[in-house]
Amino acid sequence: MDEYEKLLKQGQDKLPKDRLNKSRFTPPKISSFIEGNKTVLKNIDDAAKTIRRDATHLMKFMAAELASQGVKTGMTVTFIGKFPNSLVNKKLDKYITTFVLCPACKKPDTTIIKIERINFIKCEACGAKNPIV
Ligand SMILES: [Zn+2]
Repeated sequence: MDEYEKLLKQGQDKLPKDRLNKSRFTPPKISSFIEGNKTVLKNIDDAAKTIRRDATHLMKFMAAELASQGVKTGMTVTFIGKFPNSLVNKKLDKYITTFVLCPACKKPDTTIIKIERINFIKCEACGAKNPIV
């Protein structure tokens, strides 16, 4: 009986972990607030770290998408203009779709590699290599 319960417990311990490994990728969210005519992004570094991309690259993307220059001060990035948080995160989602998720298997375990001036997303999960468009 004890042995059975132990096995049962082991089984239960194992389940959530297995599920975790296969769990869907939870994209990071950027916290931001509007101050006067500016928008302050608080955790662009953390977001970049979570998706394993360069914060400067992410910031440049945001600047292009928001058509505004970003100024980085310590941990925060300030953009001129009022951008609601939902819009900021929509842009982040676009970045993730373009530069992070594998087009083949949709997993985020990817790196960007450059071959003959073309950037590719190389997937560590399925091995796919796709040019970034
Ligand atoms: Zn893949």
